[in-house]
Amino acid sequence: MKEKIDLLGAGLIGSLLAIYLKKRGLDVTIYEKRQDWRNSNKSSEGRSINMALSDRGWNALEKAGLKEKVLPYTLPMSGRRIHDEHGNTYFQPYGKENQAIYSISRNVFNELLMDEAEALGAKIYFNHKVENVNVAKREVEFCLKDGSEKRMTSDVLIGSDGSYSALRNAFQSQVRFNFYQKFISHGYKELHIPPTASGDFALDPNALHIWPRGKFMLIALPNLDKSFTCTLFLPFEGYKVSFENIYDDRDVSQIFKTYFNDAFDLMPNLLADFKNNPTSALINTECYPWTENNALLIGDAAHAMVPFYGQGMNCGFEDCFILDKLIEKYGTSSWDLVFEKFQKKRKRDTDAICQLAMDNFKEMSDNIADPKFLIRKKIEAKLHELYPKEWQPLYSMITFSNMRYSEAYAIGKLQEKVMDEVMKDPDVPKNWNDLDYAAIVEKVETSGEV
Ligand SMILES: Cc1cc2nc3c(=O)[nH]c(=O)nc-3n(C[C@H](O)[C@H](O)[C@H](O)COP(=O)(O)OP(=O)(O)OC[C@H]3O[C@@H](n4cnc5c(N)ncnc54)[C@H](O)[C@@H]3O)c2cc1C
Repeated sequence: MKEKIDLLGAGLIGSLLAIYLKKRGLDVTIYEKRQDWRNSNKSSEGRSINMALSDRGWNALEKAGLKEKVLPYTLPMSGRRIHDEHGNTYFQPYGKENQAIYSISRNVFNELLMDEAEALGAKIYFNHKVENVNVAKREVEFCLKDGSEKRMTSDVLIGSDGSYSALRNAFQSQVRFNFYQKFISHGYKELHIPPTASGDFALDPNALHIWPRGKFMLIALPNLDKSFTCTLFLPFEGYKVSFENIYDDRDVSQIFKTYFNDAFDLMPNLLADFKNNPTSALINTECYPWTENNALLIGDAAHAMVPFYGQGMNCGFEDCFILDKLIEKYGTSSWDLVFEKFQKKRKRDTDAICQLAMDNFKEMSDNIADPKFLIRKKIEAKLHELYPKEWQPLYSMITFSNMRYSEAYAIGKLQEKVMDEVMKDPDVPKNWNDLDYAAIVEKVETSGEV
């Protein structure tokens, strides 16, 4: 008899995992709390509308045979376009020529993955909200749309139910289960820049736009319909510019005119969007173990990170890729073994990217507008140009490679230490082009901590 795998949550990670598992010939069912929003105009409630897809994500999609299907729904962004307070903009490439991250609509992407999973024979039950899980019996209790209850017992259970995972909640009643969560000081709100009157993009479509303003920032990613989805990140409270100090339309206009004036001019629906769209919180969660009694946590359910490295989904896709490789190696007769190997291999990598995502908030909102930081980036870019193998920028190792996150993190720390030393020289802003680049690379190579 074919083994039955039950997934909780048909988000991006659950849907891609279902595809992988179907391709291994398994019997897959997904239980999803939302209604099926395909073929309706209803978008999935207030979540970030577009995402940046990068190499790790592409790698996992390619292995699942989906790269070519996904590509037409994406727009390449080859760098950041920084908007200063005076309306000037400048461009920072993300990597080398031909390297880009790709903007894609979350809904379109999720729909495509669900369609693919179903086409391969996965069954998705919508309006099935997991209320409780008895981990010892692998028994799941659902609340259905009409308020009735339903129970299901599973052979193999996988929680792909996101950062507030019901399966993870059930794990919390197990002895020796560790769980850590942190809501950061900032929240976010989605806003919109429509196409121009002539039907064009209002901004450069091949860039991720950032308006960095120290303790807060606005970003914008392009959509295929020539609009942009903007995300405003603000502290909830404690600062002059914070969500708690915005009472009415006047406050919204005032903030945008003062700090994001060039964007303000492109946002005719700003006030309505601000009022109607929710203010959402940002959470980081880490937990361990991820597996218990043939049940496993994956994606955000296992490791939800703040969005400042654009890696949450990419990391979850990489989870699927790695789990599939372990299934290939160890087969499907010993899920405990596969899940154990998975968590042992993966945990330190997800810890590393969760930490980097936290650290990157400072870089995006604050540092990228700092002239000294820009020189530091120029030096690093030159190091990479002169010594492409020996010096890879941390951002490239995370975004444009499949190197383990933990390895990239460790190398990044060494580079940071060496660059801190270099930047101590007060003459660097003048003579950065003439530094002894070979010596800088050698310092990293000989520090021997990696
Ligand atoms: C503002 C923002 C911007 C982001 N931008 C990026 C980006 O550019 N690039 C990137 O890689 N990542 C990004 N991320 C992270 C990314 O959104 C997540 O890492 C990714 O969505 C995780 O996918 P998932 O399937 O694990 O969880 P989710 O996408 O949260 O999906 C979980 C699914 O489970 C369902 N579910 C939840 N609870 C239950 C329940 N009790 N019963 C049944 N079903 C349930 C949900 O309805 C949902 O369908 C961003 C996140 C945020 C907040």
